[in-house]
Amino acid sequence: MIKHSSLLPENAASRTTIGAGDYYIGIVKAGQTLRLLDLEGNQAADTLFFSAANPVERYSATDTIREQGNVYLTAGSVIRSNENNPMLEIVADTCGRHDTLGGACASESNTVRYDLEKRCMHSCRDSWMLAVAENPQYGIGKRDITHNINFFMNVPVTAEGGLTFEDGISGAGKYVELTALMDVVILISNCPQLNNPCNGYNPTPVELLVWN
Ligand SMILES: [Zn+2]
Repeated sequence: MIKHSSLLPENAASRTTIGAGDYYIGIVKAGQTLRLLDLEGNQAADTLFFSAANPVERYSATDTIREQGNVYLTAGSVIRSNENNPMLEIVADTCGRHDTLGGACASESNTVRYDLEKRCMHSCRDSWMLAVAENPQYGIGKRDITHNINFFMNVPVTAEGGLTFEDGISGAGKYVELTALMDVVILISNCPQLNNPCNGYNPTPVELLVWN
């Protein structure tokens, strides 16, 4: 569902550009609103959310999908935790829908899907591992890295229930905005994938804006 925001970038408390293939980790407080902005278009932002107070409570795709009765995330979606608590709500979305079924790229999946020689290519899982290793203060470890949201990624479900990775429906300047309902740690891998169309075969930066 397309829903525009009335928040102005010049009023944001912080603006951070996340380079192609880079990670971001930080805390968003309850009541703050964050916007992920697809600067150049067709850029998947593989994102995990954790309770800042207790990181073993984390984003749950299954709880989120069941409670909203829909596999796509868009304006109105409530992002739920593995304890079925509301973590964030999507309050604006100019892309239309976001994936939470396709998972993240990893060395192993790149090898299985594409070629043995892709094994050493940079992946989202590598970025997350680096993020949690370099930032132990959040209390998040390897075991906490599970299923995720792929903002701006297009993984349509066919009438037969099949999944495909398709060319993106996002574009330059499109954004998704979420209001935090608890203090959350946000962990983003700005996907470096070069083997499928999730990034248009050309990873690009995204911007993270936060309003108080
Ligand atoms: Zn990826």
